[in-house]
Amino acid sequence: MELIDSHCHLDDERFDPDRSDVLRRAADIGINTFIVPAVHADSCHKLFTLSQQHDEMYPAYGFHPWFCDNHHDNDFDLLAEYLHSAIAVGECGLDFGLCKTDAGTQLSWLRPQLQLARDFNLPVILHSLKATDMLIGEIKKWPGLQGVVHSYSGSLQQAQQLIDLGFYLGFGGAITRPQANKSHDLIKQLPLANILIETDAPDQAPYTQRGKRNEPAFLIEIAEHVARLRDMHTNEIADICNANAKELFNL
Ligand SMILES: [Zn+2]
Repeated sequence: MELIDSHCHLDDERFDPDRSDVLRRAADIGINTFIVPAVHADSCHKLFTLSQQHDEMYPAYGFHPWFCDNHHDNDFDLLAEYLHSAIAVGECGLDFGLCKTDAGTQLSWLRPQLQLARDFNLPVILHSLKATDMLIGEIKKWPGLQGVVHSYSGSLQQAQQLIDLGFYLGFGGAITRPQANKSHDLIKQLPLANILIETDAPDQAPYTQRGKRNEPAFLIEIAEHVARLRDMHTNEIADICNANAKELFNL
C-alpha cells in the first residue's frame, strides 16, 4: 500500500535527533510522499534545505497564525522567493481558539498569502480553529482558489460550503479519539473525493499513541479509521486519498 501524508511538519526540531529513522519507518509501510508546510520564516529556510536533500518532501511555504508575533513585513519578499519551488502556500489561516492574536492582525498575515497563492497559481494549506466562517469569507474573495482546510474541525454545513468553493478537508489524529463523534459523522457524510488524510506530525498523535510525538508512520491508523467509518477497505481509502492529494498539489 502507498500512502501520502498530506500534512506533516518534518522540519520541526522535534525530528532533528532522528529524522532519517522517522522517514525510514514511514517508508517501511509505504509512506514515501510528504506534504510539508512551513510555519514561519526560519521554518521556510530549514524546509528549503531539507527538501533539497529529500525528494520525498514536497514543500509548502507560509506563515502560521500562531507565530504572528514573530513574522516581519519583509518576510513576504522571502515567501515570494520560496514559492518558486513550492507545491502550495501555507500553512496559514485563522485561529480564534488557541491563538490570542487579534483577528485584524491574523487577517493582515493571511490576506497577502491568499494573494500570493493566486499570483503563483498554487493551492493554499489552511489552518482554521473556531474561525471557519470568517475563513470562508476570505476564500470567497478569490474565486477559483483551491486548497485544503487541514485538521478540519468545522460543521458539515461549513464543509459543504468549502467543497463548493473547491476545497478539500484534511483529517488526522483527532478522528481516532473514541469520543470524536462530530468528526466521525462528518467523515461518514462527506464526499470521499474531498477528503485528505494527514498526521500533522509531530503534533496530534492518534489515540493509540496519545502523549507521544506523532510521526508519519502513524498515518496508517488514520486511513484505517476512515475505512472503518466508511465500511471500506483501507487500500481503497488510501487510493482515493492519494489521488486527491496528487490532484490538489499537482504531484
Ligand atoms: Zn500543521
